[in-house]
Amino acid sequence: MTYNYEESLYINGSWEKGVSTIENINPSDISDNIGNIAQASSEQVNKAIKAARIAQPIWEKTPLETKLNILQKIGDELIERCEELGELLGREEGKSKAEGKGEIYRSGQFFQYYAAEVLRQMGENALSVRPGIDIDVTREAVGVIGIISPWNFPTATAAWKIAPALAFGNAIIWKPANLTPASAIALTEIISRHGLPDGTFNLVLGSGSIVGNELINSKEIDAISFTGSVETGRKIAIATAANFVKCQLEMGSKNALVIADDADISTAVESAIAGSFSGTGQKCTASSRLIVTESIHDEFVSALVKRMGDLKVGHYLEDGIFMGPVSDKAQFDSNFKWIERTKELGGKLAFGGEKLSMKTEGYFMSPTLFVDTKNDWDVNQEEVFAPMACVIKVKDLDEAIKTCNDTRFGLTAGIITQSLKTAAIFKKSAQSGCVMVNLPTAGTDYHVPFGGRKESSFGPREQGSYAKEFYTIVKTTYQKPY
Ligand code: NAD
Repeated sequence: MTYNYEESLYINGSWEKGVSTIENINPSDISDNIGNIAQASSEQVNKAIKAARIAQPIWEKTPLETKLNILQKIGDELIERCEELGELLGREEGKSKAEGKGEIYRSGQFFQYYAAEVLRQMGENALSVRPGIDIDVTREAVGVIGIISPWNFPTATAAWKIAPALAFGNAIIWKPANLTPASAIALTEIISRHGLPDGTFNLVLGSGSIVGNELINSKEIDAISFTGSVETGRKIAIATAANFVKCQLEMGSKNALVIADDADISTAVESAIAGSFSGTGQKCTASSRLIVTESIHDEFVSALVKRMGDLKVGHYLEDGIFMGPVSDKAQFDSNFKWIERTKELGGKLAFGGEKLSMKTEGYFMSPTLFVDTKNDWDVNQEEVFAPMACVIKVKDLDEAIKTCNDTRFGLTAGIITQSLKTAAIFKKSAQSGCVMVNLPTAGTDYHVPFGGRKESSFGPREQGSYAKEFYTIVKTTYQKPY
């Protein structure tokens, strides 16, 4: 399918041009411009907000089965077209064919899950302390939701916000990241064809400083759901608090995978490979710290280094690649600054750390492993967002847990162990929103809550039935029957 990228803002049920365009460069082949993408003006953002305000009560009152069918059809179409749309996503983000397809498939599952959730909206009732009065506790839509999403999971992060927002009767203004607009246009094109009232769903493409800023400072928006960096999240928390606008922030992390003394080596290696390097390391759930107890350290590191030698890096369309390119030049340059910085600090490069040349010019690099690193180094405290992991050697489980928690972030934490006792201690002690035992730190389901602690998250959890905490507002009704 081809798209008219220059007329790709979707406002009040119509496609519009923007006030300017930006190029969308393929990171596997920087001579390939996917299209000149429309950029919205502040006026267009406000036009979308106005349209959403009018559409929202119409959508909220739409019969449940109509809502269910629309969400189901969007989900079905994403799943049917996951290969085609996965390749488009890979072309602009760098994901391999398997990762692109997997992300679109998962996005379809979010719509299917929330289609069913439309019918699961139960209230509560209570006895009153005052005789003769009935109390009902019901939920209503929040209203108009601004959705601001990142480039690393451009379709999935948006889908896990858009689907529940619609299921609970809200209208949406979506601002995706400027690095991945084509997949956003493709998702919007699908959403535009399945019967939502005009204005219920709007796509405004553009920079954070213009389009994002307009959304987060608007008094006409009822809530902002954001996924992205801590730096931007903090700005959003401040801007929305000033207007008492509800906000939900899912941000960065510095996740650790602990390899305990009794770990099965192959489980440890495969979990580290998947957690640290899949998605080219550009995952909020990536295992960027590998905390390894001393008695297993050397065996684990040599097995991991050997396995890293099998990982094929290449153009997103190449068969059998494990890792595509880094998403853009800024991230690519930043990754090599971190590599130099870790060397300066005294880290020992055990694998990778190189730029790779392919047939096409792109942002290719090898998966990278440092050993002999310390947890208090900035590389182990800041989110690096690269296919790079740092090994931190510790004495025992106690020190491993302390090190794992010694971070301002808290999204996921994992442990590899064959001991039920060690797993139980870790599950209770890890200061993170998600805990993985004998699994990579990355990789979650779609029907259970997802989110973190400390600076990784702010506000109610996303996903599963927990999403209703953000996308609905509670009403308590007291009624005297006569
Ligand atoms: P980012 O914060 O730079 O941008 C995210 C979005 O915010 C983009 O759409 C951007 O245009 C917008 N934005 C930027 N400045 C803004 C402003 N002043 N006002 C309003 N909007 C603004 O993040 P990114 O680089 O796109 O994504 C990577 C980050 O996302 C990483 O930190 C990663 O850990 C995080 N992430 C978190 C999760 C999670 O669920 N916790 C999932 C995926 C990614």
